[in-house]
Amino acid sequence: SIVTRFAPSPTGYLHIGGARTALFNWLFARHHGGRYLLRIEDTDKARSTPEAIEAILDGLDWLDIAGDGEPYFQSAFETRHAEVAHQLIEKGAAYRCYLTPEELARRREEAQALKKPFRVTSEWRDGGTPPEGAQFVVRIKAPREGETVIEDMVQGRVVVKNEELDDFVLLRSDGTPTYMLAVVVDDHDMGVTHVIRGDDHLNNAFRQLTIVKAMGWAEPTYGHIPLIHGADGAKLSKRHGALGVDAYRDELGILPEALFNYLLRLGWGHGDDEIISREQAVEWFDIDHVGKSPSRFDTKKLENLNGHYIRHAEDSRLAVLVAARRGGLEAEELALLERAMPELKARAKDLNELSANADFLFVARPLALDDKAAALLDDDARALLGRLHATLSGVADWSHDGTEAAVKALAEAEGLKLGKLAQPLRAALTGRATSPGIFDVLVLLGQGESLARIADQMT
Ligand code: GLU
Repeated sequence: SIVTRFAPSPTGYLHIGGARTALFNWLFARHHGGRYLLRIEDTDKARSTPEAIEAILDGLDWLDIAGDGEPYFQSAFETRHAEVAHQLIEKGAAYRCYLTPEELARRREEAQALKKPFRVTSEWRDGGTPPEGAQFVVRIKAPREGETVIEDMVQGRVVVKNEELDDFVLLRSDGTPTYMLAVVVDDHDMGVTHVIRGDDHLNNAFRQLTIVKAMGWAEPTYGHIPLIHGADGAKLSKRHGALGVDAYRDELGILPEALFNYLLRLGWGHGDDEIISREQAVEWFDIDHVGKSPSRFDTKKLENLNGHYIRHAEDSRLAVLVAARRGGLEAEELALLERAMPELKARAKDLNELSANADFLFVARPLALDDKAAALLDDDARALLGRLHATLSGVADWSHDGTEAAVKALAEAEGLKLGKLAQPLRAALTGRATSPGIFDVLVLLGQGESLARIADQMT
């Protein structure tokens, strides 16, 4: 049965491209009833950090696409990697190379001076007597004739002439394995059947296949997915808002299901469907509909999706998320926030906006008015607030309909449109020129607080 894996190097945050690779592997496995593994490729000890490992695990958990079972850590298998390198030597498919780093540097410079592409051709490929006590690396004996073919699930048939392959290093002089070796050994040992990853690894696939073939192992099926580009078509970078998954959550206030849906649509499609649930995604996902060209990151689209998922999220869940962004709330405040949520969530594209929409519930009197609200409260408006105060003081049924009836009656008596009353009322109650429906605001604040806020602004 099918086994996929996500194999990030923990050298930085879990970026958006990595998260999408993880998602596609997760979906492919789920769709086929297979397994999806997470392997942290932490063999580069100088560049791997515990923070990066944390960020990767955390981000995948949040998106709910953590690997099946415990994650593997590649560094645990170094002995095994070295063992395979030595088996390759025994098979005559790899060799000890005694070229010194200085000699290699010299040859590289020479090639550069002649403007020729540099490819290591080691005289140790065909054996020889090693210099006494000399250091060596282990190199693959790459084929020199013929060609290597990959039937890639995304890229189609890709062919490379073997003369273009080089004798890359399997084991460094300190005996540690290279990425190229480790990834092949682990994929084999873990029974990985499908390698789905960014197309920046396509060139590596040909080299990795050399090892697979030399060991006589089953070749995995490859699917190299195009990278994500910015809106301007250039490779996605920080400049385009290519942030870590944690920043989408913490700074931008994106819901995980929104990012899930967005990443899914980024490079994969199902007709015109934009809103796709987890369940539908698992049912529909196929590699055939992964596009061959880079997808463009579209912040607007992510915001729209996020707004959709916010409107459909449980009020209690949103209240907890907003409370956390506000540094915590008392139980009573939390209950108020939850009661307000149906109104608040109707017009927020992210959790920051949602929280800002809730500000009026928690501000202390007298309210600081923003510029637009201050502009609404001219002398006439402040006088109107006085009459509104008198009217609302007499309302016995403090409900949406009860307050609406009273305010409408006053508007009629004044010969004013409802908006003429609602605008100053909104400014006085929320300190802003926009808010949820004014009668909902009155109900949420309660009669006492509403009257007090109005009194603060009236003449
Ligand atoms: N560890 C590699 C990376 O983060 C990916 C290896 C692979 O998917 O084969 O780029």
